[in-house]
Amino acid sequence: MSDTIRLLPDHVANQIAAGEVVQRPASVVKELLENAIDAGATSVKLVIKDAGKTLIQVIDNGRGMNETDARLCFERHATSKIKQAEDLFQLHTKGFRGEALASIAAVAQVELKTKTQNAETGTTVRIEGSKVISQEVTVTQPGTSIQVKNLFFNLPARRNFLKSNTVEIRHCIDEFHRVALAHPEIAFTFLNNGSELFQLPISNLRQRIVNVFGNKTNEKLVPVQEETPLVNISGFIHKPEYAKKSRSEQFFFVNHRFIKSGYLHHAVLNAFEGLLKEGVQPGYVLFLEADPKTIDVNIHPTKTEIKFEDEQTLYALLRSAIKHSLGQFNLVPVLDFERDQTLDTPYSYKDKTPVIPRIEVDKNFNPFRENTSEAPPKKAFKKTLSPAWESLYSGIKKEIISPTGLDDSSWELAIESEEKTGAFPFTAEELSESSPVFQLHNKYLVLPHQEGLLLINQNLAHQRILYEEILKSITVSRASSQQLLLPLEMDFSKEEIRLLAEIKEELEFSGFVFATFDAENVLLEGIPVFMEATDIPAIFLQLIHDIQNEIPETGFSQNDLIAKSLARSGAVKNGSSLALEQQAFMVRKLFLCKEPGISPYGKKTMVTLSRNELDNKFS
Ligand code: ADP
Ligand code: MG
Repeated sequence: MSDTIRLLPDHVANQIAAGEVVQRPASVVKELLENAIDAGATSVKLVIKDAGKTLIQVIDNGRGMNETDARLCFERHATSKIKQAEDLFQLHTKGFRGEALASIAAVAQVELKTKTQNAETGTTVRIEGSKVISQEVTVTQPGTSIQVKNLFFNLPARRNFLKSNTVEIRHCIDEFHRVALAHPEIAFTFLNNGSELFQLPISNLRQRIVNVFGNKTNEKLVPVQEETPLVNISGFIHKPEYAKKSRSEQFFFVNHRFIKSGYLHHAVLNAFEGLLKEGVQPGYVLFLEADPKTIDVNIHPTKTEIKFEDEQTLYALLRSAIKHSLGQFNLVPVLDFERDQTLDTPYSYKDKTPVIPRIEVDKNFNPFRENTSEAPPKKAFKKTLSPAWESLYSGIKKEIISPTGLDDSSWELAIESEEKTGAFPFTAEELSESSPVFQLHNKYLVLPHQEGLLLINQNLAHQRILYEEILKSITVSRASSQQLLLPLEMDFSKEEIRLLAEIKEELEFSGFVFATFDAENVLLEGIPVFMEATDIPAIFLQLIHDIQNEIPETGFSQNDLIAKSLARSGAVKNGSSLALEQQAFMVRKLFLCKEPGISPYGKKTMVTLSRNELDNKFS
């Protein structure tokens, strides 16, 4: 029998290694930024195009490489960072496995330009799919510039697997945040498609955090500082009242390397115990410095988990350091959660001179006339009905619009929505007046039908109704808005504002009216009719959270995501009592939906109890 074992050719081995190291553009961003830091750079520029799919470039002013190293750095296991196994226990660099550049060069078209600080000339190396295309002497700045173009150009299946630009750029920004927060002593610039996302000068940590997350962050921060023989803990936590639903502003760095640790996170939560409302999380940027000997460094290059020698002590130290800060800054006693929240001034209004509310009355408003024209959203001030109530009507209006009316698109849609796909016991017409509805436990709408009994979950049903309506508004006809008495200032980080900026237009079509929308400030003056002003901050936090945690498997359609999120936040809650007419409208509107049977998140909106099932219960 002939031998069957063969050594893999280098380029194949590199591609396999790349499978682990390079998952998406953000992985390249991370590796290149880390290399720049390991090279001792004080200024690093990151340039990406199309969320990194077309180009990722990192330019640094670090020590650079000579001619030989410029070629060698693309070899697998080529590293200048460790020479012997013992060095693993003395690591002060980010990289050490010598795998990143070899992996990246296996799956992209790479151009490296580099020059050591004192050399006269530098080197340019071009390499594509592990194949060196050229190497030449060049005139260039001291330091290194690496361009990584067309990631996965030679692996179409993996390229197709990349997510939308919105998702991929978010990952790139996440990696950038992790590196930039860990190194305030280095200046960073980040350009995406030619526009500047971040410009971070050398500064202290507090200033860096503020530059990354926006000016409003400053007032949230409380310093943490604790030195012990085992570990030094430093950094900032957010004051408890700024806790958020999202986990996006939580960072642990161990020896300036970003890590994830459920265990340490728990220690922080534990320290905040009793200070947070349910469902919210404190923000933090915490640095732990420990002897590298006490940390298991033999971690996978792309993994952010880490093992400590003495985890339990670390837990206790971290918890007490944070408790100490919370106590020292007098944050504990001022909190009083028994207080009626509705009486509180939102913090965004604090320290502002009160303005006399201006009430705009639409003189032409006639409650008995169906408003068919697209009135400018700002003027649409009507708050006579409770929001949930009004929203139950909003689709009905469209049915009444005549085909000769102004809003033809709605008319078409109203017709279209009658041809629903699901096999449901009856149509909206059959239901309309005749079927009595009964609300059970302020949660279910119960109604009879020929085959037995129908139980509708009011919250899930309303989610479905709102979802289809919002989706229509975003894609076809702008929804109307209600004007707020006072503009609402929203407290968002820069990153959150950037996320919202991408969906600003969709939000406007859904009924939001922005008075201001720039990189630091968002001021709302109008909101969709089915929402309450007091719910808006929570609705936006949920929306941001949903965008950040978009589940990749379901594919990413932004409109869909926005509609889902707003529908879930805006729907009538279980537990609210509905008037008889509201119940009837809810049912009728549900059956006008295209998919009445399922909620936008895939839950059943209703269940039936058949005659047989009922009969069996009495047999
Ligand atoms: P590692 O960082 O694990 O050593 P890499 O594949 O990322 O492996 O890099 C290989 C080597 O190339 C590094 O050890 C370093 O010597 C050199 N190198 C990479 N990027 C830079 C850079 N920006 N400036 C100077 N040297 C670099
Ligand atoms: Mg590296």
